[in-house]
Amino acid sequence: MKDQLSTLRIQFQSELSATQASKDVEQLKVKYLGKKGSIQELMQHLRNTPAEERPAVGQQINTLKEEITHLCDQALHSFSQAELAKRLGEEKIDISLPGRKSYLGKAHPLSHMMEEIIQIFISMGFSVQYGPDIDSDYYNYEGLNFPPDHPARDMQDTFYITKEMLLRSHTSNTQLRVMENHQPPIRIVAPGTVYRNETISSRSHVFFHQVEGLYVDKGVSFADLFSTLDEFCDKLFGRKVQTRYRPSYFPFVEPGLELDVACTSCNGKGCRLCKQSGWLEILGAGMVHPEVLKNGGVDPEVYSGFAWGMGLERLAMLRYGMKDIRMFTENDLRFLEQFA
Ligand SMILES: [Zn+2]
Repeated sequence: MKDQLSTLRIQFQSELSATQASKDVEQLKVKYLGKKGSIQELMQHLRNTPAEERPAVGQQINTLKEEITHLCDQALHSFSQAELAKRLGEEKIDISLPGRKSYLGKAHPLSHMMEEIIQIFISMGFSVQYGPDIDSDYYNYEGLNFPPDHPARDMQDTFYITKEMLLRSHTSNTQLRVMENHQPPIRIVAPGTVYRNETISSRSHVFFHQVEGLYVDKGVSFADLFSTLDEFCDKLFGRKVQTRYRPSYFPFVEPGLELDVACTSCNGKGCRLCKQSGWLEILGAGMVHPEVLKNGGVDPEVYSGFAWGMGLERLAMLRYGMKDIRMFTENDLRFLEQFA
């Protein structure tokens, strides 16, 4: 056994002196110290050594093992120093190479448009409120004057989570919460994502964005609704735009209406964008239904108010002349890069 040890020591020393790079030393380490290496092999043989000699021989094997480990580490260290110095000497910086172009992120066109709309209303004295995306049937429907089985519920195909909980189908779910927690005067806009169980097509998606508005105070009239929304349209389009209001129906307002602006593409003459009508539908609105005020803890004998809701995608599509709502969510850089 003693002879085996000294032979191995000599063999290792000669092999170590023949190494030329750190990878050679690594190989040597595996050969001698690895799981199937020479040292391990000696350990196996230790079993055949007479019991009284075992401790002494074991110690000798360990000493050799430590020696090999130490010598390998030393060699590795000096090789890696030399190799690093060599590599640094070879790598030269070519200052004539053109620089790498860096790309700055930009706001998504919808985020940009949302911010613009919010800023317009903030400049008119409104503040921003957020409602939950997952809400109860009460805040999304029942409290807003949509009783169970009311046919108007079919206007919005809803994702129900349970019988009671749903993904909000409109940002109007914010209205009651705000009224419950604030005394009039209330002037808020509530932006957010809404969800509908619709077939995805160029005109509709399972989720999109709305901006809700609510104004409640003493003596709020139709005239306030008209002037507020007219002013908003002028600011949004950056010039005086012609508007018209058509009667419409939403359960939580009475009376309800829809707001059109003169087609931004043809100025009312009729074109493909406005389907030859000369008008573009922008939003739905109305005077807050007395039942809804009551549900929010606001006395309809004392206070009145108006509310509106607009679809962000629809507005952005009109502004940018887009024909497919799916482009907003496809993350196609060719599309997104156009909105610097
Ligand atoms: Zn037109």
